Amino acid sequence: MSEINQNYVNGDWVQSATDEVIEVENPANPDEVVAKYQRSSTEDATAAVEAAAAVADDWAATPGPERGRILREAGTLLAERKEELTDLLVAEEGKAYAEANGEVQRAIDIFHYFSGKAADLGGTVKGPSATDQNLYTVQEPVGVASLITPWNYPIAIPAWKLAPALAAGNAVVLKPASAAPGVAIELARALDEAGLPDGALNVVTGSGSTVGSEFIGHDAVDAVSFTGSSEVGRMVYDQATDSGKRVQTELGGKNPTVVSNSANVAEAADIVANGGFGTTGQSCTACSRAIVHKDVYDEFVAELVDRAESIDIGPGSEHEMGPQVSADELESTLEYIEIAEEEGATLAAGGGVPEGSEVESGYFVEPTVFTDIDSDMRIAQEEVFGPVIAVIEVSDFDESVAVANDVPYGLSASIVTNDHTEANRFIDEVEAGVVKVNDKTTGLELHVPFGGFKRSSSETWREQGDSGLDFYTIEKTVYDS
Ligand code: NAD
Repeated sequence: MSEINQNYVNGDWVQSATDEVIEVENPANPDEVVAKYQRSSTEDATAAVEAAAAVADDWAATPGPERGRILREAGTLLAERKEELTDLLVAEEGKAYAEANGEVQRAIDIFHYFSGKAADLGGTVKGPSATDQNLYTVQEPVGVASLITPWNYPIAIPAWKLAPALAAGNAVVLKPASAAPGVAIELARALDEAGLPDGALNVVTGSGSTVGSEFIGHDAVDAVSFTGSSEVGRMVYDQATDSGKRVQTELGGKNPTVVSNSANVAEAADIVANGGFGTTGQSCTACSRAIVHKDVYDEFVAELVDRAESIDIGPGSEHEMGPQVSADELESTLEYIEIAEEEGATLAAGGGVPEGSEVESGYFVEPTVFTDIDSDMRIAQEEVFGPVIAVIEVSDFDESVAVANDVPYGLSASIVTNDHTEANRFIDEVEAGVVKVNDKTTGLELHVPFGGFKRSSSETWREQGDSGLDFYTIEKTVYDS
């Protein structure tokens, strides 16, 4: 490996004028450089937007079934490359093999799902108010859509933006995160081979402040869909709205699982551990707070500590939990562990980096549990984005809901209970875009909407499912007399 991967612009694989390079290291073994990508310039980003703008009308006029055929074919090509894509995802992002393989399958499914939607996309016929009138609506594409994506689901998130954007007839520019851009570029390769017209998709690697900023600010861009951190998301939102663009920002979370005194405690510990330690805690929907009734608190903590201590950490396909994606992310998690200790929380499990020859050089961290948590501590308020769970003791159901809602975020929330009334009240009262009963906070179905409340999403737009198309379409009402 030493070739520099090229950008995909106007149907060609092109070299940036800059000679700056992004080296992607293997987070399980940082001495290994997995791939190199271009640190592209503003001019590269401009060329990509111009290519998209030039083809936008033609792509919008392409019949839905034909757009759907291309998406379906691309999904099939991705399926043929599933193992190769999984290996690339594991090498660049560090996810455990089973999680990475599942993520690639999700991207394939998303392409197939939206291929059907492309063919169906239309409008509605309305009853006219005069006999000689046709009254109906049509859904048109927005125009040029900019997609800016994070590293933590490096193929699923680009896919769940790209497939509906293209299905609806938008021309697209995509900037994947620099930590793991390889699998997003493979989406472009599959679409190219499936017959996507030149310019309908353009992928440019580079920094957010250069490529990302141009993808938001360029006049020819009509809509910006961003997923990433709350800090960057706020800037993206301001920049896009200042220039009058439609914008969707999907941001962080501080997701709770409430454990009722009616819960099966072993089941609750499984649910919290899976939600909090899965994908090394690097999910926007990761469970980072367990809010536990005092009657079952001690038993729950013992069970959760047991789960944390039995997780098998290491690289590649043989282990359950991979590394954090980068030195910065590992450092940030270790800093939060220090902060929690300084705040007076009790470390009940983990808290450091694991030992052993397989893990000593990578960005691995132990699954960590803190107890004696007050809801206003930073460890209970801020997104850690690592495998750290804060356990908060509460006296009754009302307090558990109040604590669940006592954060600026509202992405996903779950409750483990055998009490139907509690479950229903939780569904009503919790402030979260995704609510689950007797299930983990992570894991999403592709055919239902996804998005957050409060600081987790800054707009009412949702992703995935039918609602995922709304952002990429604009409705026209026709009175034809
Ligand atoms: P990030 O905000 O650092 O980066 C996200 C993307 O924005 C990257 O492509 C980055 O290069 C780009 N970017 C950075 N600065 C920019 C700028 N000034 N202008 C335009 N683009 C810019 O996030 P990350 O570290 O890649 O991802 C982790 C975060 O994503 C977490 O906070 C997580 O909760 C969130 N996330 C949210 C969801 C969701 O659907 N709500 C899903 C996954 C991840």
